Amino acid sequence: MLSKNCTKCGKLKPLSRFSKQRSRKDGIRGKCKECISIESFERNRSKIGRIKAIYNGQISSSRRRGYPLPDYTKEEFIEWVLSHDSYNDIHNEWVDSGYKKYYSPSADRKDDYKSYTLDNLILTTWKKNFRKYNSDQKNGLNNKTSTSVDQYTIDGVFVANYHSYAEAGRVTSINKSSIEKCAKGHHSHAGNYVWKINTGLFMNKNEQAEALKLIFELSSKLETQLSWNTSLPESYKTVTKKAFSFTNGMYNKYGLGA
Ligand SMILES: [Zn+2]
Repeated sequence: MLSKNCTKCGKLKPLSRFSKQRSRKDGIRGKCKECISIESFERNRSKIGRIKAIYNGQISSSRRRGYPLPDYTKEEFIEWVLSHDSYNDIHNEWVDSGYKKYYSPSADRKDDYKSYTLDNLILTTWKKNFRKYNSDQKNGLNNKTSTSVDQYTIDGVFVANYHSYAEAGRVTSINKSSIEKCAKGHHSHAGNYVWKINTGLFMNKNEQAEALKLIFELSSKLETQLSWNTSLPESYKTVTKKAFSFTNGMYNKYGLGA
């Protein structure tokens, strides 16, 4: 037997696409790896699944930073979150956003210097958590001096964000001072990646200019095609015209990237 049908999607797949499972007769799981990963992805987005994911995050972040673990169990945490009526609204907002990280339900410590205890927690969203962290630093409530840093491939594809150079160094095994030198513009890259300081803004000015430039280039190219390629669907025409006139307007107004 070199392949079998997945019990979830029904597709015939090679055995390498299935994990092992001793308790089964053939020693191989019934569902394929892709179906398992889709299921866990969906589970993490459910009301309870998200709470469990927050809890797991607290455990791993405590371990990573060498802080005491939460003094409550997963079940106690689930009960605590569900006792807040606001959790429904927060979760719905996240669903409506198309599961943007920015809106994801989150639990924040009121006092960042105290460990994870239920009295020290507030239920919030990632967005507010992130903003609080930044404003606390500004107001001197949190004098941690770490700089949040973003990792990109040489081609400019975003890879990950780290809360400090030290964390970035630890996770990637790249020298943290090389990462810092790159983020500060002294080197073009470190460990085959490009590093940029994360300012907490949605996009920095260079990224905004780059995005506008790309939309502009794409829409100009499409616009030229539209004039002779009549088989392009109507929806292309509408969005091309919109994108073209928008980016054109932005260029005229701000001269971004020009
Ligand atoms: Zn499957």
